Amino acid sequence: MKVYFDNAATTKIHESVLAEMMPFLTDNFGNPSSIHEYGRKAKSAIEKSRKIVARYLNASTAEIFFTSCGTESNNMVIKEAIYSLGVKRIIASSIEHHCVLHSLDTMKERGVKVELLSVNTFGEINLDELEQMLATSTEKTLVSIMNANNEIGTINDIVAIGEICKTHQALFHSDSVQTIAHYTFDVQKNSIDFLSGSAHKFHGPKGIGFVYINSTNTLHPFIDGGAQERNMRAGTENVAGIIGLGTALELWMNNLDEYKTQISSLKVYMIGRLKHEISDIAFNGRTDDKSLYHVLSVSLPANNKTDLLLFNLDIKGICASGGSACASGSVQASHVMEAINAPLDRRTVRFSFSIFNTKEEIDFAVECLKEMV
Ligand code: PLP
Repeated sequence: MKVYFDNAATTKIHESVLAEMMPFLTDNFGNPSSIHEYGRKAKSAIEKSRKIVARYLNASTAEIFFTSCGTESNNMVIKEAIYSLGVKRIIASSIEHHCVLHSLDTMKERGVKVELLSVNTFGEINLDELEQMLATSTEKTLVSIMNANNEIGTINDIVAIGEICKTHQALFHSDSVQTIAHYTFDVQKNSIDFLSGSAHKFHGPKGIGFVYINSTNTLHPFIDGGAQERNMRAGTENVAGIIGLGTALELWMNNLDEYKTQISSLKVYMIGRLKHEISDIAFNGRTDDKSLYHVLSVSLPANNKTDLLLFNLDIKGICASGGSACASGSVQASHVMEAINAPLDRRTVRFSFSIFNTKEEIDFAVECLKEMV
């Protein structure tokens, strides 16, 4: 039996998404910058995807730019907020994804002030602390707080954070790579300047992401060259990828309630089964709706089997993760586990679910974990 429970790392491309992409990898291979028919077809397909993203966010198409991935979107926002908008200080949480934290390290070396908000044992920031930090300085500030954490699933209230940022005239960016498609967004109702998304987290292809840039902010091009993406991001577009992103997002928009119910019920089922079968079970982060419905971070007692937890699960055919994908297979506690003060005598495994998972797969995983504990 092969069980894929690593959907926060990446998801399987949906066959209907692949079907929409295929013509643009075969017969419709034109360069969208070409004025002939092949080029025009590619261009219009790109603009169709842009409309889907704009409709999903309730944004204007002029505010959506395609990038190569979530990492690029996050780099673009952080670096261009400094280079184009004169940001002098960035406030982020200590459990941001490495593509945010490492971008901040680079910017710090170049003289930008970086301040990290600590989190409690659930991985939650303190909004009063954010407010106080913003109140202490009038320097132009960007707040970069992820919508939800990829390792433990903790969701941040980006509406409340946006309001605080607005009150203090700070810009607000949210790395929404784990929530785009899985939740609804309305940028008209919230004070958000920038959002980042990535298609491979919602049954789209890898190597394609987008950034939402509120029209009140004008950034310089992040990649110089041709006039693609309205001069913001040069380079011949990943046409099939962009179409895959739009198709996958539309699939979610049309089926969100069903997908959400299906995936949440898997998470609830696994929590129940684990509690029933393993007395010494615990979970990292919250397990309620303040946590991603597709992520469950399980904490087990350390022993010689759980010390090699991911390896032992892999032998049984179960793909899971210890934390973020880049930390997979590593026995070292991740920066997130350290930040939430996860006990050193516990071992963590992250199960993350998709529409392709079943309760039978969960039963199998629970049996395997039970054997190890
Ligand atoms: N941000 C978060 C919260 C993520 O989970 C990930 C991927 O794991 C990224 C950013 C990076 O996205 P991408 O893989 O598209 O570069």
